[in-house]
Amino acid sequence: MSTTKKHFTVLGAGAVGVCTALYLLRDGHPVTLLDRLPPGKGCSFGNAGLIQTGACVPIATPGVLRDVPRMLLDPDGPLVIRWQHLPSLLPYLLGFVLAARARRVEEISVALQAILNHAMEAYRVLLAEAGANDLVRRSGELYVYERQASYDRAKPWHDLRRKRGVEVVDLAPEELRQLEPALAPIFCKGVYLPDSVQTLNPYMVTAALAENFARNGGEIVQEEVREIAMGAGGPTALLTDKGRRKIDQLVIATGAFSKRWARQLAGYLPLDTERGYHLMLPRPNIDLRVPLLSGDYRFGLVPMVDGIRLAGTAELATLDAPPRYARAERLLKIAERMLPGLSGEARTRWMGHRPSTPDSLPVIGRSPRFASVYLAFGHGHLGLTLGAVTGRLIADLASGRIPPLSLAPYDIRRFGWIRREGCRSLVPRTRSSPSLERETGGELRVPEGH
Ligand SMILES: Cc1cc2nc3c(=O)[nH]c(=O)nc-3n(C[C@H](O)[C@H](O)[C@H](O)COP(=O)(O)OP(=O)(O)OC[C@H]3O[C@@H](n4cnc5c(N)ncnc54)[C@H](O)[C@@H]3O)c2cc1C
Repeated sequence: MSTTKKHFTVLGAGAVGVCTALYLLRDGHPVTLLDRLPPGKGCSFGNAGLIQTGACVPIATPGVLRDVPRMLLDPDGPLVIRWQHLPSLLPYLLGFVLAARARRVEEISVALQAILNHAMEAYRVLLAEAGANDLVRRSGELYVYERQASYDRAKPWHDLRRKRGVEVVDLAPEELRQLEPALAPIFCKGVYLPDSVQTLNPYMVTAALAENFARNGGEIVQEEVREIAMGAGGPTALLTDKGRRKIDQLVIATGAFSKRWARQLAGYLPLDTERGYHLMLPRPNIDLRVPLLSGDYRFGLVPMVDGIRLAGTAELATLDAPPRYARAERLLKIAERMLPGLSGEARTRWMGHRPSTPDSLPVIGRSPRFASVYLAFGHGHLGLTLGAVTGRLIADLASGRIPPLSLAPYDIRRFGWIRREGCRSLVPRTRSSPSLERETGGELRVPEGH
C-alpha cells in the first residue's frame, strides 16, 4: 500500500465528486474540489433521491427494444426521437442496441449488483462522519402497475433482481393500499423492494457531505474549467475562467460533461446525456409514506422533507438543448390520478442531465493513458446511489489498496470497439471537439426508471 500523499484535484462536485473528494481526504491526501457551481447543484440537485440498492436492471433490455414503436406513439410514453439528430446519436444507439442482448443484460446486471452491494455501506461511513444520518431512511420503494400488461413487461426485470439476490416482494391490490393508503384503487399489481433507501432531499445530502469535506480541511473552489494543459507525462494544469491552476493527480467527475475530458485523457466514450425532469410539489395536500415508481409511466413519486417530488422521463439529448417542461407537467396529470387529492400548487420545475453510457455501467478506474488521471463518471440513472461507493473505489486505487470488487466491468476501454468497428465513420461531419455537443441538438427518450 502506498503511503505517499499526493495532491488530488477532483473536477466536478456532484454526488460522485463530493464523495470521491471525501474518501480521498479520509486517506490523508490534500484535496481540491472544483466546480463551476456550488457542490450538488448539477444533476445531483434534483434527482428522485433514492439509493436504489437493487437497481441491477440496465436500461437497455430486449423488452425495451421491442417496446420502442409503442412508446413512440404514446404521448405520455417515455420515448421520443428527434430524427434529424439521429446521426450524432449513432455510437450511443449502437452501444445501446448491443447492450440489450439477453446475454449481455445478464452480465451487466451482475456487474451492477456487484457495485450496488457496496453502495449503502459506503454512504454510511460518510454520513456518520458528517453527522447526517438523519438525511436518509430505509423506506423501500414500491412499483405500482395499473395495467396488467405493464406488469407482465416488467416481471422479467423483477425476476432478474431476485436472481441477483435482491429482496423483491409481490403485492396484491389490497396489500398495496395497506402499505401506501394514499394510492387510488386503480392498481392491479405492486412490487416492493424493502431494502431501498431514500434521502429526505438529495441536494441536502451532497451539501452536507461537502460541508464536512470543507470542515476537515478540503478546499472547495468555484471555477469553470475551459481547457486542460498537457505535459509529456499527462495533464499539468487546469485553465479555468479565473486563471491557471497547477495539478498533480486529477479525478474527472464531471457527470454528463465528461465526454470531452475522457477523450482527451483516457479514451473513446459514447456518453450521452439523458435529460430528466422533476416537479416539486411543496403543498401536496396529501401524505405519502413510501417512494412510489409508476410501472406504467416510469417515473418516481417521492416524499421529501420539502414536499412530494415527481421525477423522471429520460430524454437522450444534447447538453444545451432547451428544456421541454411540458414533459414534466404531464407527470402531474398522471400523479393526480394515482394519488387522489394531490395538489400541484406552487410547484417548481427542474431539468437535469443524466450522464448515461449505453450499457448503464459507470466508468470507474484509472485512465489507461495517464496514471495520474482517475475516471468517475457515467452513472446514468444511479449517480446518487453509486456516489459513495465510487468515491471509495477511487480512493482504494489512489492509495494502492485492493478494491473489494473487480473494476474490470467499469473500464473505459470497453467502448473502444465502437470506435474500432467504424461506427464513427457512419456519423457524417462528426468532429472530436468541445463544440460537438453544441452542434447536435438530437434527442431520444429512453425508458425505465426515473
Ligand atoms: C429526474 C432524475 C431522477 C433521478 N433519480 C435518481 C435516483 O433516485 N437515484 C439515483 O441514484 N440517481 C438518480 N438520478 C441520476 C443522478 O441524479 C445522476 O446520475 C447523478 O446526479 C450524477 O452525478 P454526478 O456527480 O456524476 O454529476 P453532476 O451532479 O451533474 O455533477 C457534475 C458536476 O460537474 C460540473 N462540471 C461539469 N463541467 C465542468 C467544468 N468544465 N468546469 C467545472 N465544473 C464542471 C457540473 O457543474 C456539475 O456540478 C436521477 C436523475 C434525474 C435527471
